[in-house]
Amino acid sequence: MAQLATIFSTFTLGGIHPPDSKELSKDLPIETMPVPDVVSIPLNMQILTASPPVEAVVEKKAALTEGRLIGKPIHFLGVNIHSSVSGTVKSVETVSHHMLLRVPGVIVDVDRSAPEPSWAPRDWQSLSGAEMLSIIRDAGVVGMGGAGFPTHIKLSPPKNSPVDILLINAAECEPYLNCDYRLMLERPADLLDGTSMIMKVLGVEKAWIGIEDNKPLAVKALEEARTGRHDGIGLAVLKVKYPQGSEKQLIQAITGRVVPDGALPAAVGAVVQNVGTTIAVYEAVALGKPVYEKVLTVSGRGIARPANLKVRLGVTLRQIVDYLGGTTPDLAKVVLGGPMMGLNVSDFTIPVTKTFSGILFLTKSEAALDDFGPCIRCGRCISVCPMGLNPMEVSAYAEAGRYADTLAYGVRSCFECGCCAYMCPAKRPLVQFMKLSKLKNPIR
Ligand code: SF4
Ligand code: SF4
Repeated sequence: MAQLATIFSTFTLGGIHPPDSKELSKDLPIETMPVPDVVSIPLNMQILTASPPVEAVVEKKAALTEGRLIGKPIHFLGVNIHSSVSGTVKSVETVSHHMLLRVPGVIVDVDRSAPEPSWAPRDWQSLSGAEMLSIIRDAGVVGMGGAGFPTHIKLSPPKNSPVDILLINAAECEPYLNCDYRLMLERPADLLDGTSMIMKVLGVEKAWIGIEDNKPLAVKALEEARTGRHDGIGLAVLKVKYPQGSEKQLIQAITGRVVPDGALPAAVGAVVQNVGTTIAVYEAVALGKPVYEKVLTVSGRGIARPANLKVRLGVTLRQIVDYLGGTTPDLAKVVLGGPMMGLNVSDFTIPVTKTFSGILFLTKSEAALDDFGPCIRCGRCISVCPMGLNPMEVSAYAEAGRYADTLAYGVRSCFECGCCAYMCPAKRPLVQFMKLSKLKNPIR
């Protein structure tokens, strides 16, 4: 077998080194949260469209078994939704959503006496790539750490953009988050098998798992789990730098290819999937198990007990907080995702969807809550932007309400990584100015 691990450098433009704060949950094995009495399963688990892309296929009082289909897409960007529990449909109504406020959903009373379903291993190596693709679609697999883009669409690149390389994003460069790290430590063989499956679907001979050099135990676990069927898979060990896990930065760090502005990775022959998605592909193809659980990190000094949790979709923030012993009196901010790109929330009725990677409970000392001041034109925001943008000028125009003028500074290329705001000594909300400017300049 060829050598697995190869040392790489990192992406070239911008980037930062924030404190990683991963020590709070890094050594905590993935723990399965007991199923609560009731779950609120959103039928829109994605943040791609405000219109409901999925409609319920069950009615009030329907008996459900774990893994049963409860929602079918009515939009090409929607995906199947499955019940995360066995029980009875209490109601089909609207439920909270972290981005879209309220979306259609199915509320289920859990039946604890129902038998656990068995997801039996099958001979996946005899399946064709096309058969695997349709299994992935039926299982409702989406990008498990981002906007929830349907994986079956991402694995069907346009004919005029042939793909020759698969990259697995195992950088997990956001501070605090450890769920991908724990999956690599605890399920390295499943990650490697999932990678082989995606390679077969795409018809590519080469894949790299991109992992930062602060995760030597995960590198070792992957090395040891490797078998003859993983020969085309390499391990790209990258120098730590945020935002290495961003698609464009990861592609450049590993392949040297530069994705053109406004283009997708397929434009340079690459497809990127993250660790959680690759494990979901493994479970769908090897076990026939649809996506109805999520592994996420719950961390920060504002939660009584940090954890890496496997939870059922539709479990609410309140149920998770209660399970982990509550919040601390100095809790100042709750963030979904990592602290750099995550979303602040205050509604504890929000249920977990397929795209959650973490829930952070931050105290005042951890959260940036300072008032912002005027720009002192130090230029730090420009020097760290991985897209080569000028957040200083964009924020000045946005603050003056001159949103059209921000287009000349390439505001649409901003992917909201937060490097600029992190470095700003005046604490200016540069990402919010970027977001606002993009919203005021929609692509028509
Ligand atoms: S948030 Fe946008 S402008 Fe700021 S550093 Fe990241 S890509 Fe650049
Ligand atoms: S980092 Fe902040 S203060 Fe410095 S130039 Fe950028 S916006 Fe101005």
